[in-house]
This record gives sequence, structure tokens and C-alpha cells, in this order.
Amino acid sequence: MFISIQEAISQGKGNVALRGWVYRERKSNKLAFIVLRDGTNIIQCVIEKDKVSSGVWSSAEKVMVESSVTLEGEIREDKRAPTGYEVGVTDLKIVQTAERFPITKDQSTEFLLDVRHLWLRSRELTTVWKVKSAILAAAREYFEKQKYVEVTPPIITGSSCEGGSTLFKIDYFGEEAFLSQSAQLYLEALIFSLDKVYAITPSFRAEPSKTSRHLTEYWHCEGEAAWMQFDGLLDFMEGLISHVCVTVAEKCSAELKLLGRNSDDLKKIVPPFPRITYDEALNILKKDGIDVPWGKDLRTEEEEQLVKHYDKPLIVTRYPKKIKAFYMKDDPKNSEVVLCCDILAPEGYGEIVGSSQREENIDVLKEKIKNQGENIEHYNWYLDLRRFGSVPHSGFGLGIERIVRWFCRLETIRDAIPFPRTIKRKTP
Ligand code: ATP
Ligand code: MG
Repeated sequence: MFISIQEAISQGKGNVALRGWVYRERKSNKLAFIVLRDGTNIIQCVIEKDKVSSGVWSSAEKVMVESSVTLEGEIREDKRAPTGYEVGVTDLKIVQTAERFPITKDQSTEFLLDVRHLWLRSRELTTVWKVKSAILAAAREYFEKQKYVEVTPPIITGSSCEGGSTLFKIDYFGEEAFLSQSAQLYLEALIFSLDKVYAITPSFRAEPSKTSRHLTEYWHCEGEAAWMQFDGLLDFMEGLISHVCVTVAEKCSAELKLLGRNSDDLKKIVPPFPRITYDEALNILKKDGIDVPWGKDLRTEEEEQLVKHYDKPLIVTRYPKKIKAFYMKDDPKNSEVVLCCDILAPEGYGEIVGSSQREENIDVLKEKIKNQGENIEHYNWYLDLRRFGSVPHSGFGLGIERIVRWFCRLETIRDAIPFPRTIKRKTP
């Protein structure tokens, strides 16, 4: 019976039957080494010509990188082997002999992206997918514990949420439709029957510029809760992010280490997180010699400078109303700013969350829609939510790949998703 490489390593001795792909191979007259890979780990396997049948030796001679194989042999500890164990092979069968693998050392990023369907087998990227899976599982676990209901909002929509400039238009049977930028408006509709909901869906943004933190298709984790006010929102997000950090640090410490991240960094991400207002952020920046005029949004460089002062995610609240979306509620103490919050990752990985308390009063909301130059007709159904049992409520959106990039210390967000979609790339 086949077992996984990880199970074989845990077993540590005796006979094992393994299957997988050839990660590396090296041959001489009498010896052949294969590093075998499966979904769990890699292991060195050695074939000695004198100890195996001529059929097995001829398979060993034919084997190419990325060939699929099954093998049997005895596993033993070997300190020199890449994962500390080696299999002395007694039987080897090739399932498919791979053609010459196009990926070798020192190839250009563009080429590697062209063969992404093959490149994603690399050890580094495989490890990233595992960390990402743990992040998604930990997020779901937190929502479930807090009694949030997972819902499935639409991807094809008739209206926008985050503004027209980054909207993808599609031809919908001759009519105009859009790919969802955020599920927020739909989640708001669902809280009136479920109280607390969340969704993990793709969001689409026609991001016009090439940056290391923007994809045109990314996975968006959004939560919305009836009765939740601004302070409750901040506490909830702090709890969620901390839970994801601590859980993934524990579960994936080996994976994180392989990617150059010490999991202790993430174990330290526990509440309370530093909380500052937009105004305080401007003061800090001013002391650092950076002048941002009041009313301007914070740019990447400014966010990077701000987070240098902290080693936990930074909560920045109460941005000027004029740079934020129409649905955000005014701060009752200062109507120039709204009850919103961005959370910035440590170490300069940028914004990971956008959130706010929502405006629940229909007249104020209509005014806000008009002031932003939007057509009120497009929001008829949304305004119904303020006509039938409106309540105070809040919600947020967290970019999964932004978290992955931070945890895995990735230079670019492209490597946080198997098939990145960017301004220049939609294949493979
Ligand atoms: P940014 O200023 O970085 O473009 P945003 O203000 O447009 O972000 P929101 O509209 O608040 O972002 O979206 C919520 C979250 O979704 C962001 O905090 C971020 O984590 C994530 N996000 C937004 N746009 C992208 C993108 N193009 N690629 C990946 N993640 C994104
Ligand atoms: Mg944006």
C-alpha cells in the first residue's frame, strides 16, 4: 500500500511504497539518485545497479525530472539527505516519462509566468499554497466560533461598490454587467435575516497600475454584522487577524521557516493592536519629515513609513469623508471624517483590511450617494435595506493574498495565488 512521503519519514524505518514525481535526478554508472516529491514532502531515493534487477536499473536510467513514478524500498535515516532520510530502492516503475522539463535555473520572471502551470510545482510555491490553505481554514474557524454564517454572494452584478474606475464590464446578453469588486452590499442585505455573515469570494479590480500588492482577481474575505458598532468592529477584526496569525504560526511553522519567516513573529500578533486616527498618522508622518496635506489619501510610501513605528498590524481610523466610499457613516464627533478603518500589515506589506460602520439612515445615505456623483437609481434595492428595519451595522474586507504575502514574505503578491491575473497577464 502506498503511503505519503511524510508518513514514510515519520515511520523512519522498514519497507515503504511511495509514488510521486521526480524532483531531481542524478546518475552515474552504478548509482542513481532520485529526489521524489509528493504533496507532503520530498525524499532522497537511491538505486544501486548491483542490488536491483536489470529492469529496475533501466527505469532508473530513463527517469527524467518531473516523470511520475512509483517505487518501493527500505527507508533509513541519513543525515546528508535533504530531508534527513533516504530510501534504498528495490523496485521502480515509471508511470510516465516526462519530456525535458522547460524550467531550469536562472530563468526570467516572464518565462516562469508563461509556464506557471509547471512552475507552481516548485517547492517554494507549493509551500505558499499550504500556508494559504491554513489561512483560509483559520479565518473560517474564527467566523464559525463567533457564530457567523457563511454565505455565497453573486459575482456578476448590476452595480458597482468600490467606484467605477476599477470596474470590469462584461457583456451580459447584450446588456452591461460587472464583475464584483466586493460582496459588501449583498452581505448587508443578508444580515437582516442572519445577523452575522461572511463570505470568501473572488473580487475583481481593473487595477490600472502594476504594483507588488494588486491583482485584478483576488480572494476577498468579507464580514458584516447587524448591531455591530465601530468599536466592536475594531475588536472583531483584531481578534480575527490575531487568530489567523497564531493558528497558522503553530500549524505551519515548518512551511513558514522554509519561506524565511520565523513563526514566532506571527505568534506575537495578539491584541491590542496599535490604533491611531488619520489625523494622528499625519502628525507622525510630519515628525518623520513627510508632509501630507489634510484630505489626501495615504500613499504606499507613507503607509510604509508609518508602520516602521510598530511591530503589529496598525489600525488607522477616521479618514476624511471625501476620500472614502459613500456608505461609510460620519463620525458623530466630527462630520468631516468617517467611522472607517484601514489595517496596515507590519514590515511594509501594506493595507490588509478596509472597513467601516455603515450609514443606516436612508436620508443621510441618499445625500451621500448624490454628493459622490452617483446615480441614486442604481441603489434602489440597497436603499430598501434602510426602509425595512434598518439597524446600526458594520463590516470589513480582508485581502487573502495580502495576508499570504505578509506571512510568506513574498516580494510580490503574484506569488500568493497559483494563476495570477494582472494588467499584463490572463494566461495560463
Ligand atoms: P488599496 O488601497 O491597496 O488599493 P483598497 O482601498 O482599494 O486597497 P478595499 O476596497 O478596502 O481596498 O478592499 C478591501 C481589501 O481587499 C484591501 O484592504 C486589500 O486587502 C484587498 N485588496 C483590494 N484591492 C486588491 C487588489 N487589487 N489585489 C489584492 N488585494 C486587494
Ligand atoms: Mg484599490
